[in-house]
Amino acid sequence: MSNVQKKHVVTVIPGDGIGPECIASAQRIIEAAGAPIEWDEQHAGERVFKRGIASGVPQETMDSISKNRVVLKGPLGTPVGYGEKSANVTLRKLFETYANIRPVRELPGVKTRYSGENIDLVVVRENVEDLYAGIEHMQTPGVAQCLKLISRKGCEKIVRLAFEFARSEGRRKLTCATKANIMKMTEGLLKRTFEEIAPEYPDIEPGHIIIDNCAHQLVRNPAQFDVIVTTNMNGDIISDLTSGLIGGLGFAGSANIGSQVAIFEAVHGSAPKYAGTNTINPTAVILSGVMMLRHLKLFAEADAIEHAVLVTLEQGKLTGDVVGYGKGVKTTEFTDAIIANLGQKSATWKVRTHRPLRLPEISAAPDFVRPHSERTVGVDIFAQSALSSEELGHSLEALAEASPLRLKMISNRGTKVYPAVGAITDCVDHWRCRFVLRNPDADLSDAHLFNLLAKLASEHKWMHVEKLKKINGADAYTKAQGED
Ligand code: NAP
Repeated sequence: MSNVQKKHVVTVIPGDGIGPECIASAQRIIEAAGAPIEWDEQHAGERVFKRGIASGVPQETMDSISKNRVVLKGPLGTPVGYGEKSANVTLRKLFETYANIRPVRELPGVKTRYSGENIDLVVVRENVEDLYAGIEHMQTPGVAQCLKLISRKGCEKIVRLAFEFARSEGRRKLTCATKANIMKMTEGLLKRTFEEIAPEYPDIEPGHIIIDNCAHQLVRNPAQFDVIVTTNMNGDIISDLTSGLIGGLGFAGSANIGSQVAIFEAVHGSAPKYAGTNTINPTAVILSGVMMLRHLKLFAEADAIEHAVLVTLEQGKLTGDVVGYGKGVKTTEFTDAIIANLGQKSATWKVRTHRPLRLPEISAAPDFVRPHSERTVGVDIFAQSALSSEELGHSLEALAEASPLRLKMISNRGTKVYPAVGAITDCVDHWRCRFVLRNPDADLSDAHLFNLLAKLASEHKWMHVEKLKKINGADAYTKAQGED
């Protein structure tokens, strides 16, 4: 049998701003630890936008990731004025890395307001759905819309992965953080899915918290949390908050996990004002590298680097973000110190026992959730009009006179304004006109819907139509504020 260890080929993307400095530091340390890694350097982000590639991700980078399936990535700037989308979000979405795992833990030698509280928690953020799908429209010249799409399949994947992750690290508690009290359909879907799946993991204590209270609790008593699973935008915000609890973005690593590809990167961005100054803290990217090594089952090398980072911090070797710029060690000195400390063990830090993460097996086939019953009971037509609510209401009632649909109400910015309820609503020219079937037991045909739409279009401008459904006998839409 050969003693030559198999080399893992990893796509490395240096990135923008401080990215190349952070990545160079992590690469040197990983090599010095003897991890059998071969780098395949590729590019994405600003320099690619400048080549005129609007996605910020060229084909050669796509091909490299498809082949190697593991990526160590520096932050990518999202320039304003050129390049349409964030190349980060594009990479996460194109490779369906649906889970973003963001651990934070109190670090010895890094003094914070919370020192001594033993913060040791992980945010598992859904990474491809929610508002970050970036489906946006200007519905009228003055009203913008962003679609918050949450799927049952996406929820199942992130919830199962969060439970599996908790198990892989021997963690005991998983808290689902949502805004289900307000967004009952979208955020509520994550909560309901969590509650359905939790009994399959009796070794993990489940809990639910409203996301705003979660932020409050994280600031007041962060040590109460173990693992938090949440939707994309909530997770983006609270994971920057949790980074702040343990010393800042310079210390927060992360893993974007999918069933095919995993991308490891810092939580932070390209911090362009520090680019090329050799002063920034590379720890977040180094710890992302540690997560990458564990993903590749290189547990000994990962543990060795984790210890060496901790020993270096305990020795008081700290970068400018912790002790003030001008007083901190240079990024390269910090890296040299970690390399010199490889083989040493921190007296105060216990490396967790890691078992390989078992990825949930969920069919790749499109998930058509099949209800027992589904019928259309009405329609919301979004119209642009300079009329008052009363004028518009009377006009629409007249237009629907011969239709099986009747105007139930009109809302403006979510509040019912017609028939008037006495609300003080600062109206804009964007109206949601809700029509329901006169016979509530019927099923609305497209022919009747088109007929009504054509009549409405003869007098008003419309921009969007949404069917109102009853699924399994329950309303599959929400009411306006003030609607009965
Ligand atoms: P940022 O790059 O994370 O920087 C915010 C601040 O965090 C910095 O000004 C600095 O704080 C501190 N910081 C971040 N990383 C640090 C490090 N390694 N060492 C020391 N301090 C560090 O956020 P941003 O300024 O909002 O975004 C800049 C660009 O990055 C944008 O184009 C954004 O779109 C992009 N971005 C990319 C990613 C990604 O690639 N995953 C993530 C987030 C943002 P002080 O100013 O207090 O010193």
